[in-house]
Amino acid sequence: MNVLVINAGSSSLKYQLMNPETGDVTAKGLCERIYIDGRLTHKVGDKKVVKDIPMPTHSEAISAVLDILQDAEHGVIKSVDEIDAVGHRVLHGGMKFSDSCIIDDACIKAIEDCIPLGPLHNPANLMGIRACQAVMPGKPQVAVFDTAFHMTMPPKAYRYAIPTEYYENDDIRRYGFHGTSHKYIARRVAALLGKKEFKLVNCHLGNGSSLSAVKDGKCMDTSMGLSPLAGVPMGTRSGDIDACVVQFICNKYGMSVDDCLTMLNKKSGVLAVSGVSSDFRDLEDGAANGNADCQLALDKFCYEVAKYVGAYAAALNGIDVLTFTAGVGENGPDTRQAICDYLGFMGIKLDPEKNKVRGKEQLISAPDSAVQVWVVPTNEELMIAQDTAELVNG
Ligand code: ADP
Repeated sequence: MNVLVINAGSSSLKYQLMNPETGDVTAKGLCERIYIDGRLTHKVGDKKVVKDIPMPTHSEAISAVLDILQDAEHGVIKSVDEIDAVGHRVLHGGMKFSDSCIIDDACIKAIEDCIPLGPLHNPANLMGIRACQAVMPGKPQVAVFDTAFHMTMPPKAYRYAIPTEYYENDDIRRYGFHGTSHKYIARRVAALLGKKEFKLVNCHLGNGSSLSAVKDGKCMDTSMGLSPLAGVPMGTRSGDIDACVVQFICNKYGMSVDDCLTMLNKKSGVLAVSGVSSDFRDLEDGAANGNADCQLALDKFCYEVAKYVGAYAAALNGIDVLTFTAGVGENGPDTRQAICDYLGFMGIKLDPEKNKVRGKEQLISAPDSAVQVWVVPTNEELMIAQDTAELVNG
Protein backbone atom coordinates (compact mmCIF):
# COMPACT_ATOMS: atom_id res chain seq x y z
CA MET A 1 0.00 0.00 0.00
CA ASN A 2 1.19 3.56 -0.77
CA VAL A 3 0.07 6.44 1.43
CA LEU A 4 0.89 10.04 0.55
CA VAL A 5 1.41 11.89 3.83
CA ILE A 6 0.83 15.64 3.61
CA ASN A 7 1.72 18.34 6.14
CA ALA A 8 0.39 21.60 4.71
CA GLY A 9 1.45 24.96 6.14
CA SER A 10 0.35 28.40 5.05
CA SER A 11 3.11 28.78 2.43
CA SER A 12 4.72 25.35 2.48
CA LEU A 13 3.76 21.70 2.10
CA LYS A 14 5.80 18.67 3.15
CA TYR A 15 5.08 15.26 1.66
CA GLN A 16 6.20 11.65 1.96
CA LEU A 17 5.10 8.69 -0.10
CA MET A 18 5.39 5.70 2.17
CA ASN A 19 4.41 2.12 2.85
CA PRO A 20 2.52 2.03 6.17
CA GLU A 21 3.38 -1.63 6.80
CA THR A 22 7.15 -1.39 6.37
CA GLY A 23 7.67 2.33 6.99
CA ASP A 24 9.69 2.50 3.77
CA VAL A 25 9.71 6.01 2.32
CA THR A 26 9.68 5.87 -1.48
CA ALA A 27 10.00 9.63 -1.99
CA LYS A 28 9.66 12.79 0.05
CA GLY A 29 9.96 16.50 -0.35
CA LEU A 30 8.88 20.02 0.30
CA CYS A 31 6.99 22.73 -1.59
CA GLU A 32 7.96 26.22 -0.44
CA ARG A 33 7.00 29.79 -1.27
CA ILE A 34 3.41 28.83 -2.22
CA TYR A 35 1.48 32.04 -3.12
CA ILE A 36 4.85 33.80 -3.69
CA ASP A 37 6.49 31.94 -6.58
CA GLY A 38 7.04 28.26 -5.77
CA ARG A 39 9.93 25.86 -5.24
CA LEU A 40 9.87 22.08 -5.05
CA THR A 41 12.60 20.03 -3.35
CA HIS A 42 12.16 16.32 -4.07
CA LYS A 43 14.23 13.45 -2.66
CA VAL A 44 14.38 9.81 -3.67
CA GLY A 45 16.94 7.97 -1.55
CA ASP A 46 20.13 10.07 -1.68
CA LYS A 47 19.11 11.87 -4.88
CA LYS A 48 17.73 15.38 -4.54
CA VAL A 49 16.26 17.69 -7.16
CA VAL A 50 15.17 21.32 -6.73
CA LYS A 51 12.78 22.92 -9.22
CA ASP A 52 11.21 26.36 -9.42
CA ILE A 53 7.55 25.74 -10.30
CA PRO A 54 4.80 28.41 -10.13
CA MET A 55 2.53 27.65 -7.13
CA PRO A 56 -0.14 30.36 -6.97
CA THR A 57 -2.16 28.12 -4.62
CA HIS A 58 -1.82 24.79 -2.75
CA SER A 59 -3.50 23.03 -5.72
CA GLU A 60 -0.55 23.78 -8.01
CA ALA A 61 1.79 22.61 -5.24
CA ILE A 62 -0.04 19.25 -5.00
CA SER A 63 -0.07 18.98 -8.80
CA ALA A 64 3.69 19.58 -8.84
CA VAL A 65 4.14 16.83 -6.24
CA LEU A 66 2.04 14.37 -8.26
CA ASP A 67 3.91 15.31 -11.46
CA ILE A 68 7.34 14.72 -9.95
CA LEU A 69 6.19 11.46 -8.30
CA GLN A 70 5.34 10.25 -11.85
CA ASP A 71 8.29 11.98 -13.59
CA ALA A 72 10.34 9.78 -15.94
CA GLU A 73 13.62 10.86 -14.31
CA HIS A 74 12.75 11.53 -10.64
CA GLY A 75 9.47 9.63 -10.27
CA VAL A 76 8.67 6.50 -8.25
CA ILE A 77 5.18 5.67 -9.56
CA LYS A 78 3.68 5.36 -13.04
CA SER A 79 0.24 6.70 -12.22
CA VAL A 80 -1.67 8.43 -9.42
CA ASP A 81 -3.67 5.18 -9.15
CA GLU A 82 -0.65 3.77 -7.29
CA ILE A 83 -1.37 6.17 -4.42
CA ASP A 84 -3.96 4.32 -2.33
CA ALA A 85 -4.79 7.08 0.13
CA VAL A 86 -3.70 10.47 1.44
CA GLY A 87 -3.08 11.21 5.14
CA HIS A 88 -3.10 14.83 6.32
CA ARG A 89 -1.59 16.24 9.46
CA VAL A 90 -4.11 18.61 11.04
CA LEU A 91 -3.13 20.71 14.05
CA HIS A 92 -6.29 21.20 16.07
CA GLY A 93 -9.19 18.78 16.42
CA GLY A 94 -10.66 20.62 19.40
CA MET A 95 -13.10 18.47 21.36
CA LYS A 96 -14.54 17.08 18.14
CA PHE A 97 -11.83 14.52 17.34
CA SER A 98 -10.47 11.90 19.69
CA ASP A 99 -9.16 9.89 16.75
CA SER A 100 -8.18 10.23 13.11
CA CYS A 101 -11.05 10.53 10.67
CA ILE A 102 -11.92 9.83 7.02
CA ILE A 103 -12.28 13.17 5.30
CA ASP A 104 -15.84 13.92 4.19
CA ASP A 105 -17.98 17.05 4.31
CA ALA A 106 -18.77 16.60 8.02
CA CYS A 107 -15.06 16.17 8.86
CA ILE A 108 -14.15 19.30 6.89
CA LYS A 109 -16.89 21.27 8.64
CA ALA A 110 -15.59 20.09 12.03
CA ILE A 111 -12.01 21.12 11.14
CA GLU A 112 -13.39 24.52 10.11
CA ASP A 113 -15.20 24.77 13.44
CA CYS A 114 -11.83 24.31 15.17
CA ILE A 115 -10.24 27.29 13.35
CA PRO A 116 -10.69 29.60 16.38
CA LEU A 117 -8.53 27.14 18.38
CA GLY A 118 -5.89 26.75 15.64
CA PRO A 119 -6.16 30.02 13.73
CA LEU A 120 -2.81 29.75 11.94
CA HIS A 121 -2.61 26.05 11.18
CA ASN A 122 -6.12 24.70 10.57
CA PRO A 123 -6.83 26.99 7.58
CA ALA A 124 -3.53 25.92 6.01
CA ASN A 125 -4.25 22.23 6.71
CA LEU A 126 -7.66 22.68 5.05
CA MET A 127 -6.02 24.22 1.99
CA GLY A 128 -3.91 21.07 1.66
CA ILE A 129 -7.02 18.87 2.00
CA ARG A 130 -9.04 20.87 -0.53
CA ALA A 131 -6.13 20.92 -2.97
CA CYS A 132 -5.91 17.12 -2.83
CA GLN A 133 -9.67 16.83 -3.35
CA ALA A 134 -9.38 19.10 -6.40
CA VAL A 135 -6.38 17.35 -7.93
CA MET A 136 -7.23 13.74 -6.92
CA PRO A 137 -11.05 13.61 -6.77
CA GLY A 138 -12.37 10.48 -5.07
CA LYS A 139 -9.03 9.49 -3.52
CA PRO A 140 -9.59 8.36 0.11
CA GLN A 141 -8.21 10.93 2.52
CA VAL A 142 -7.74 10.89 6.27
CA ALA A 143 -7.17 13.70 8.78
CA VAL A 144 -4.78 12.93 11.66
CA PHE A 145 -4.93 15.45 14.51
CA ASP A 146 -2.07 16.66 16.73
CA THR A 147 -4.54 16.90 19.60
CA ALA A 148 -6.43 13.58 19.26
CA PHE A 149 -4.14 11.34 21.33
CA HIS A 150 -4.58 13.62 24.35
CA MET A 151 -8.39 13.40 24.40
CA THR A 152 -8.24 10.56 26.97
CA MET A 153 -7.03 13.01 29.65
CA PRO A 154 -9.35 13.18 32.68
CA PRO A 155 -11.08 16.51 33.44
CA LYS A 156 -8.73 17.21 36.36
CA ALA A 157 -5.90 17.32 33.81
CA TYR A 158 -7.59 19.17 30.98
CA ARG A 159 -9.75 21.72 32.81
CA TYR A 160 -8.25 25.12 33.61
CA ALA A 161 -9.11 26.57 37.00
CA ILE A 162 -10.99 29.51 35.47
CA PRO A 163 -14.76 30.20 35.34
CA THR A 164 -16.67 27.29 33.79
CA GLU A 165 -18.36 29.48 31.17
CA TYR A 166 -15.10 29.70 29.19
CA TYR A 167 -14.97 25.91 29.00
CA GLU A 168 -18.67 25.44 28.33
CA ASN A 169 -19.13 28.31 25.86
CA ASP A 170 -15.70 28.57 24.27
CA ASP A 171 -14.04 25.14 24.63
CA ILE A 172 -11.13 26.69 26.58
CA ARG A 173 -9.19 23.77 28.10
CA ARG A 174 -5.90 21.91 27.81
CA TYR A 175 -5.67 20.06 24.49
CA GLY A 176 -1.98 19.25 24.03
CA PHE A 177 -0.05 18.79 20.79
CA HIS A 178 2.59 16.50 19.24
CA GLY A 179 -0.10 13.83 19.80
CA THR A 180 0.93 11.86 16.71
CA SER A 181 4.47 11.62 18.07
CA HIS A 182 3.38 10.73 21.62
CA LYS A 183 1.06 8.04 20.22
CA TYR A 184 3.82 6.62 18.02
CA ILE A 185 6.21 6.41 20.99
CA ALA A 186 3.57 4.82 23.25
CA ARG A 187 3.00 2.14 20.59
CA ARG A 188 6.74 1.59 20.10
CA VAL A 189 7.22 1.17 23.85
CA ALA A 190 4.36 -1.37 23.96
CA ALA A 191 6.14 -3.30 21.19
CA LEU A 192 9.55 -3.00 22.91
CA LEU A 193 8.20 -4.20 26.27
CA GLY A 194 5.88 -6.77 24.71
CA LYS A 195 2.98 -5.59 26.90
CA LYS A 196 0.23 -3.01 26.94
CA GLU A 197 0.15 -2.15 30.63
CA PHE A 198 2.87 0.30 31.64
CA LYS A 199 3.30 3.82 32.94
CA LEU A 200 5.28 6.04 30.60
CA VAL A 201 6.53 9.60 30.52
CA ASN A 202 7.51 10.61 27.00
CA CYS A 203 9.75 13.65 26.48
CA HIS A 204 9.35 15.00 22.93
CA LEU A 205 12.20 17.49 22.92
CA GLY A 206 12.75 19.32 19.64
CA ASN A 207 12.41 22.89 18.56
CA GLY A 208 8.95 22.61 20.05
CA SER A 209 8.87 20.40 23.15
CA SER A 210 6.16 18.62 25.10
CA LEU A 211 5.89 15.82 27.63
CA SER A 212 3.04 13.39 28.09
CA ALA A 213 2.06 11.03 30.90
CA VAL A 214 0.72 7.79 29.43
CA LYS A 215 -0.94 4.88 31.26
CA ASP A 216 -1.62 1.63 29.39
CA GLY A 217 -1.32 3.45 26.06
CA LYS A 218 -3.69 6.28 27.01
CA CYS A 219 -2.69 9.89 27.59
CA MET A 220 -3.37 11.05 31.15
CA ASP A 221 -1.72 14.49 30.98
CA THR A 222 0.43 16.59 28.70
CA SER A 223 2.44 19.77 29.04
CA MET A 224 1.11 21.85 26.14
CA GLY A 225 -2.27 23.47 26.60
CA LEU A 226 -4.87 25.33 24.59
CA SER A 227 -1.97 26.17 22.31
CA PRO A 228 1.58 24.86 21.82
CA LEU A 229 2.95 27.79 23.85
CA ALA A 230 2.48 26.06 27.20
CA GLY A 231 4.74 23.63 29.05
CA VAL A 232 8.53 23.58 29.12
CA PRO A 233 10.65 26.37 27.57
CA MET A 234 11.32 25.62 23.90
CA GLY A 235 13.51 26.88 21.06
CA THR A 236 11.68 30.20 20.80
CA ARG A 237 8.60 29.67 23.01
CA SER A 238 8.49 30.70 26.66
CA GLY A 239 6.56 27.69 27.90
CA ASP A 240 4.44 28.17 31.07
CA ILE A 241 4.34 31.76 32.23
CA ASP A 242 2.36 33.79 34.76
CA ALA A 243 -0.44 35.56 32.79
CA CYS A 244 0.39 38.75 34.70
CA VAL A 245 3.65 38.99 32.75
CA VAL A 246 1.54 39.65 29.63
CA GLN A 247 -0.47 42.32 31.42
CA PHE A 248 2.68 43.99 32.77
CA ILE A 249 4.50 44.08 29.42
CA CYS A 250 1.44 45.23 27.46
CA ASN A 251 0.76 48.04 29.92
CA LYS A 252 4.33 49.19 30.31
CA TYR A 253 5.33 49.08 26.63
CA GLY A 254 1.95 49.82 25.01
CA MET A 255 2.18 46.46 23.30
CA SER A 256 -0.92 44.67 22.00
CA VAL A 257 -1.74 41.25 23.46
CA ASP A 258 -1.18 39.76 19.99
CA ASP A 259 2.30 41.34 19.73
CA CYS A 260 3.14 40.15 23.24
CA LEU A 261 2.05 36.60 22.31
CA THR A 262 4.21 36.77 19.17
CA MET A 263 7.13 37.70 21.42
CA LEU A 264 6.36 34.74 23.72
CA ASN A 265 6.07 32.38 20.73
CA LYS A 266 8.91 33.54 18.53
CA LYS A 267 11.46 35.48 20.58
CA SER A 268 11.49 33.64 23.89
CA GLY A 269 12.56 30.21 25.11
CA VAL A 270 16.22 29.17 25.04
CA LEU A 271 16.80 31.72 22.26
CA ALA A 272 15.93 34.52 24.69
CA VAL A 273 17.76 33.13 27.71
CA SER A 274 20.95 32.43 25.74
CA GLY A 275 20.72 35.52 23.54
CA VAL A 276 22.48 33.30 20.99
CA SER A 277 20.31 30.69 19.30
CA SER A 278 17.25 28.45 19.48
CA ASP A 279 19.35 25.54 18.22
CA PHE A 280 20.64 23.24 20.95
CA ARG A 281 23.85 22.53 19.02
CA ASP A 282 24.70 26.23 19.13
CA LEU A 283 23.87 26.35 22.85
CA GLU A 284 26.12 23.37 23.56
CA ASP A 285 28.96 24.97 21.54
CA GLY A 286 28.43 28.28 23.34
CA ALA A 287 28.40 26.67 26.77
CA ALA A 288 31.53 24.65 25.94
CA ASN A 289 33.24 27.94 25.03
CA GLY A 290 32.33 29.50 28.38
CA ASN A 291 29.18 31.43 27.43
CA ALA A 292 27.28 31.52 30.75
CA ASP A 293 23.97 32.50 29.13
CA CYS A 294 24.08 29.46 26.84
CA GLN A 295 24.73 27.32 29.90
CA LEU A 296 21.84 28.99 31.74
CA ALA A 297 19.49 28.30 28.79
CA LEU A 298 20.47 24.61 28.83
CA ASP A 299 20.18 24.44 32.64
CA LYS A 300 16.76 26.11 32.58
CA PHE A 301 15.51 23.73 29.89
CA CYS A 302 16.70 20.55 31.64
CA TYR A 303 15.42 21.77 35.03
CA GLU A 304 11.92 22.44 33.68
CA VAL A 305 11.78 19.14 31.78
CA ALA A 306 12.87 17.26 34.92
CA LYS A 307 10.18 19.07 36.95
CA TYR A 308 7.52 17.86 34.52
CA VAL A 309 8.83 14.30 34.70
CA GLY A 310 8.60 14.51 38.51
CA ALA A 311 5.06 15.91 38.29
CA TYR A 312 3.96 13.17 35.90
CA ALA A 313 5.55 10.48 38.04
CA ALA A 314 3.27 11.76 40.81
CA ALA A 315 0.27 11.95 38.45
CA LEU A 316 0.80 8.32 37.41
CA ASN A 317 1.80 7.16 40.91
CA GLY A 318 5.19 6.02 39.64
CA ILE A 319 6.55 5.28 36.18
CA ASP A 320 8.01 2.24 34.43
CA VAL A 321 9.49 3.87 31.35
CA LEU A 322 10.95 7.26 30.44
CA THR A 323 11.47 7.98 26.73
CA PHE A 324 13.35 10.68 24.86
CA THR A 325 12.45 11.59 21.31
CA ALA A 326 12.63 14.35 18.62
CA GLY A 327 15.71 16.38 17.60
CA VAL A 328 17.14 17.09 21.06
CA GLY A 329 15.75 13.99 22.76
CA GLU A 330 17.24 11.70 20.12
CA ASN A 331 20.54 13.54 19.62
CA GLY A 332 21.39 15.20 22.92
CA PRO A 333 23.19 12.84 25.34
CA ASP A 334 24.25 15.74 27.58
CA THR A 335 20.71 17.07 27.78
CA ARG A 336 19.35 13.58 28.59
CA GLN A 337 22.01 13.13 31.28
CA ALA A 338 21.34 16.55 32.82
CA ILE A 339 17.59 15.82 32.97
CA CYS A 340 18.11 12.37 34.49
CA ASP A 341 20.55 13.76 37.07
CA TYR A 342 17.53 15.41 38.73
CA LEU A 343 15.65 12.10 38.77
CA GLY A 344 18.04 9.94 40.76
CA PHE A 345 15.60 10.08 43.70
CA MET A 346 13.21 7.99 41.57
CA GLY A 347 15.90 5.41 41.03
CA ILE A 348 16.56 6.59 37.46
CA LYS A 349 20.11 5.87 36.43
CA LEU A 350 21.60 6.12 32.93
CA ASP A 351 24.32 3.93 31.47
CA PRO A 352 26.81 6.60 30.29
CA GLU A 353 28.08 4.46 27.40
CA LYS A 354 24.62 3.57 26.11
CA ASN A 355 23.49 7.18 26.54
CA LYS A 356 26.00 8.24 23.87
CA VAL A 357 23.54 6.98 21.23
CA ARG A 358 22.19 9.48 18.68
CA GLY A 359 19.15 9.00 16.48
CA LYS A 360 18.76 5.28 17.17
CA GLU A 361 16.32 3.27 19.25
CA GLN A 362 18.17 2.12 22.36
CA LEU A 363 17.74 1.36 26.05
CA ILE A 364 20.02 3.88 27.78
CA SER A 365 19.35 3.15 31.46
CA ALA A 366 21.71 1.16 33.67
CA PRO A 367 20.69 -2.44 34.51
CA ASP A 368 19.91 -1.41 38.11
CA SER A 369 17.80 1.62 37.13
CA ALA A 370 14.32 1.50 38.69
CA VAL A 371 12.87 2.93 35.47
CA GLN A 372 13.75 1.88 31.93
CA VAL A 373 14.98 4.87 29.95
CA TRP A 374 14.89 4.67 26.16
CA VAL A 375 15.77 6.77 23.17
CA VAL A 376 13.02 6.14 20.62
CA PRO A 377 13.22 8.11 17.35
CA THR A 378 9.80 9.49 16.52
CA ASN A 379 8.10 9.01 13.16
CA GLU A 380 5.01 11.16 12.87
CA GLU A 381 4.69 10.49 9.14
CA LEU A 382 4.58 6.73 9.72
CA MET A 383 1.94 7.17 12.43
CA ILE A 384 -0.14 9.26 9.99
CA ALA A 385 0.33 6.65 7.25
CA GLN A 386 -0.66 3.83 9.62
CA ASP A 387 -3.77 5.63 10.87
CA THR A 388 -4.69 6.40 7.26
CA ALA A 389 -4.25 2.75 6.21
CA GLU A 390 -6.24 1.51 9.22
CA LEU A 391 -9.20 3.78 8.48
CA VAL A 392 -9.16 3.32 4.70
CA ASN A 393 -8.90 -0.47 5.00
CA GLY A 394 -11.75 -0.43 7.52
P1 ADP B 1 10.96 20.43 15.22
O1 ADP B 1 10.21 20.79 16.46
O2 ADP B 1 11.21 21.61 14.32
O3 ADP B 1 10.45 19.20 14.51
P2 ADP B 1 13.30 18.81 15.78
O4 ADP B 1 12.63 17.69 16.46
O5 ADP B 1 13.87 18.59 14.42
O6 ADP B 1 12.40 20.11 15.77
O7 ADP B 1 14.48 19.32 16.74
C1 ADP B 1 15.28 20.41 16.43
C2 ADP B 1 16.29 20.57 17.54
O8 ADP B 1 17.04 19.35 17.64
C3 ADP B 1 17.30 21.69 17.33
O9 ADP B 1 17.39 22.50 18.48
C4 ADP B 1 18.59 20.97 17.13
O10 ADP B 1 19.64 21.66 17.71
C5 ADP B 1 18.39 19.68 17.87
N1 ADP B 1 19.31 18.70 17.32
C6 ADP B 1 19.27 18.10 16.12
N2 ADP B 1 20.36 17.32 15.95
C7 ADP B 1 21.10 17.46 17.07
C8 ADP B 1 22.33 16.94 17.51
N3 ADP B 1 23.03 16.11 16.73
N4 ADP B 1 22.77 17.29 18.76
C9 ADP B 1 22.06 18.11 19.56
N5 ADP B 1 20.90 18.65 19.17
C10 ADP B 1 20.43 18.33 17.96
